[in-house]
Amino acid sequence: MASTPATTARLLIVGPQGSGKGTQGIRIAEALGIPVVSTGDIFRANIKEGTELGRQVTEILDRGDLVPDELTGAIVRDRLQQADAARGFLLDGYPRNAAQVSDLDAFLAESDAALDAVILLDVAREESIARLSLRAVEQGRSDDNEEAIAKRLDIYEKETAPILEVYGARGIVDRIDGAGDLDEITERILAALEARGLAPAAAV
Ligand code: ADP
Repeated sequence: MASTPATTARLLIVGPQGSGKGTQGIRIAEALGIPVVSTGDIFRANIKEGTELGRQVTEILDRGDLVPDELTGAIVRDRLQQADAARGFLLDGYPRNAAQVSDLDAFLAESDAALDAVILLDVAREESIARLSLRAVEQGRSDDNEEAIAKRLDIYEKETAPILEVYGARGIVDRIDGAGDLDEITERILAALEARGLAPAAAV
């Protein structure tokens, strides 16, 4: 008989550019048996495939600006309604401002759901800039140039960091030290989630 996981886990990982949230997000999602929903990855895949959406957002991403909330929200909604997200998901890159928090709240409320935990990956600004420069060399992302990086970090500080106050007031933020060994950081996150009763699939 197939065992049914006892818990759902609707998670968000937040951190400045270069905090390693993409890497940790994949690890955490895998451990919990839930999909990663990364808006940045969705946009980049569409750009690569030359879709209509990709065409619409190419310049926005290259500048380091945010894609309009309505467009981004519609994409996330659509993705979260797919079958593999029924028992949870890990959002990476969405919501990123107050309006997107409201949009997500409204969408989740339609199915009596809400985010269970927000993982804040805490990394010093100098460290995240150093990691971004390395990524620019390794991955050649077109928005990892000096101007776009500065714009994205700026938007993070002005628009994204404040959403943590909203989630903090709900008592769902886990601040995790993002410095150190990759495995160690993953363990820290999993321990924090476990303390909330969000156990890895293997332990269910
Ligand atoms: P980073 O965190 O390094 O900026 P992401 O992959 O999360 O990288 O995002 C890359 C770009 O995709 C952003 O600069 C923005 O243009 C677009 N994007 C991603 N998520 C959102 C979002 N929630 N709202 C608007 N634009 C977004």
